Amino acid sequence: MSQIYTYLKSQQAEMLNRLEQWVNHDSPTFNKPAVDAMGQMLVEAFTEAGAQLTAVHEQAEMGHHYTLTYGQGQSQILVLCHFDTVWPMGEARQRPFRIENGKALGPGVHDMKGGILIGLYALKALQHFGLTPRHRVVFLLTSDEEIGSPTSRPVIEAEGQKSSYCLVLEGSLDGPLTTWRKGVGRFDMQITGIPAHAGVEPEKGVSAIEELARQIQKLHAMTDLPRGITVNVGVVSGGERSNIVARHARAEIDLRVKTRQDGEELTRRILALQPEQPGCQLKITGGINRGPFEETPAGLALFEKARGVARMLGFDVGKTGSGGGSDGNFVAALGVPTLDGLGSLGGGAHALTEFTRIEGLPQRAALLAELLLQLD
Ligand SMILES: [Zn+2]
Repeated sequence: MSQIYTYLKSQQAEMLNRLEQWVNHDSPTFNKPAVDAMGQMLVEAFTEAGAQLTAVHEQAEMGHHYTLTYGQGQSQILVLCHFDTVWPMGEARQRPFRIENGKALGPGVHDMKGGILIGLYALKALQHFGLTPRHRVVFLLTSDEEIGSPTSRPVIEAEGQKSSYCLVLEGSLDGPLTTWRKGVGRFDMQITGIPAHAGVEPEKGVSAIEELARQIQKLHAMTDLPRGITVNVGVVSGGERSNIVARHARAEIDLRVKTRQDGEELTRRILALQPEQPGCQLKITGGINRGPFEETPAGLALFEKARGVARMLGFDVGKTGSGGGSDGNFVAALGVPTLDGLGSLGGGAHALTEFTRIEGLPQRAALLAELLLQLD
């Protein structure tokens, strides 16, 4: 048994106390005072654990982002954490942190306050034993992941450029590590038709809603499940009254792809859509937001290293992929070997059933600490 794992198991009660404090502090992305207070709490915890606050990335509207550095190695391992959640203010008061059957529950407990806790305790274990990884370890704590990281993205990419490895503390659905994630595109389609009285002179109108219906079919037909491509029209609106041939309609489109090449191809095809009916106009905007985090040989080697560490600790860990993006996508797209899903062992992200397995907290912290020590 590794001394780090033994130590972390002895810290489990303290870990849960801290997690309770974090989960009971709401930190919705759009509430700057709340998310800033959460960030401050984390900065204090990480600096107590021996990290140095090396940059505050101040934001006017979103919460600030923070860079914390442990050790002084020449090269860098980047560890990504986000402390915003999808839950509104008051959520934690309604259903506060609680423990049931070996699980901890509450808003953000898995996505990803449990993951941040794992990062913190990996650091505490290193500090406790006076161990320093060969690389300096840079923790990036960001506050806007749940809305696509509009303000943290440049910070993540700048740190990613300097990194030899990237580890992401997003949760794992009951065990496996994440070695790939799909890229995500967002598009908006605005349709303008020609309005007319639906009863008196319908032949003079061109319906934007009919056009929308035709475009939706073309868009959904682009889905290619074996290739990992999905196109989903998730939001539609249009028209003013039932007795008017509709002048306006609109759709919001979600695209998922496994490879950069597919992302480029599908973006081209979506932006090139043409109206089916003369007299209709289409205006399509958007593109890939998070590029795909592709499985690469270097990424797989990183996974194998983590798997070796897990076996040394007495358990096995598999690998998986996800249709959902994370901030790991930004760094993986730069060609940096990236491993995700190193955070909380649990499930129910963004759902009322969200939980983290308590035994997973020391286990995953030990995995992370030993992995940081073994990367060369
Ligand atoms: Zn997350």
